[in-house]
Amino acid sequence: MSRSEILKSRAQKVFPNGIYGHLSTNIMPENYPQYFTSARGVRMTDVDGKEYIDYMCAFGLNLFGYGDEEINEAYIQQMRKTDTLTGVSEVIVDLAEKFTGIVTHADWAIFVKNGTDATTLGAMIARAHTGKEKIIIADGAYHGAAAWCNPSPTGSTAGERAGRISCVYNDVDSLERAVAEAGDDLAAIFATPFKHDVFIDQYEPNLAYARRARELCDKTGALLVVDDVRAGFKLARDCSWAVVGVEPDLSSWGKCIANGHPISALLGSEKARKAAAQVRATGSYWFQSAPMAASIVTLDRIMNTPYLENIQSLGASLRGGMAKVAEKNGVGLRQTGPVTMPMFLFDEDPDLRKGYFWCGEMAARGIYMHPFHNMFISNALTEEDITLTLAAADEAFKALASSNLAPNTRLSAMA
Ligand code: PMP
Repeated sequence: MSRSEILKSRAQKVFPNGIYGHLSTNIMPENYPQYFTSARGVRMTDVDGKEYIDYMCAFGLNLFGYGDEEINEAYIQQMRKTDTLTGVSEVIVDLAEKFTGIVTHADWAIFVKNGTDATTLGAMIARAHTGKEKIIIADGAYHGAAAWCNPSPTGSTAGERAGRISCVYNDVDSLERAVAEAGDDLAAIFATPFKHDVFIDQYEPNLAYARRARELCDKTGALLVVDDVRAGFKLARDCSWAVVGVEPDLSSWGKCIANGHPISALLGSEKARKAAAQVRATGSYWFQSAPMAASIVTLDRIMNTPYLENIQSLGASLRGGMAKVAEKNGVGLRQTGPVTMPMFLFDEDPDLRKGYFWCGEMAARGIYMHPFHNMFISNALTEEDITLTLAAADEAFKALASSNLAPNTRLSAMA
């Protein structure tokens, strides 16, 4: 048995479903590695010694690559001084000043652990600010795993989900209908920076939708919340809706803001400060200072280096190269989303059997991609890595062309 197989069978006994959450490979192509020993830059090594170029970046955490020495050194130095104690460290003020100095709409910050903490706090502050209950969320959008926003109803009560009203992203009429449905009880409109749901082609926000969301919030007194947990700093050195010229009242952040160290944030404008002060917001580890020190270095890097232009150029190179390789092989591959967060889906592939097979072939060649979630371009990726990726893609497309694919049953594990 391989080390991976041994670990999988041990895990089966000590975790529900073998392993929980989004890092489970139960729903990935069969040959996907579950356990890793190390990672550096864009490469990670599994427990059986196989190396992968990783296009998932831990689902968007590792903007500057795994094991970045300068960022990790800041973490370690702060850890040596202190991390979590009875009281806060001065880095919390430094970080809040830096972060609110970068994000135009932000006047204050609250640091939390997970993206879900940030979005949940956003919902609570919006409700405290307005004294109202309803929150508009676009169909299919993910804002976290808490009961109020979890896409699956399993384990939550109807009451916990009751405040939610859905609308269709980018559809102004639908947004207006959702606001009308809320009557005089609207607390917030939540929006992802672009349509980045799983399983579908990604698309940009249209200007009319973003502007109307702002106007409707101004008209009703509700708060506009942009959820930048996933897309933050992959589109702009500001809140992502700066790109469409719309400023929210609150924005939620996480993932890459400390290059993978555990910290997320809710940022808010002056308008929401009073409500933010009234909501009981706390957590045992929310004041942990080592991730804050790592975040300060990460934010400096974001502001002072051309990382954004670099990931845009690498993303464009991958997209252009992949389109050529797909076309050469006569494959209908749809590449959508911003080039820094690419999504690949195959034409005529309702049960994703082509995507699963192709990603499995890529993994066998040391390229870790995702068959139905957007991927992420790391600043540590190089043009040479892309050349290797395209060579693997060429072979994987050829393998796809010569295969007779069985229906894909892996996705039923998601139900
Ligand atoms: N919002 C968005 C847009 C996300 O992508 C995610 C995580 N994928 C979350 C919120 C929740 O973040 P976390 O998993 O850190 O709780």
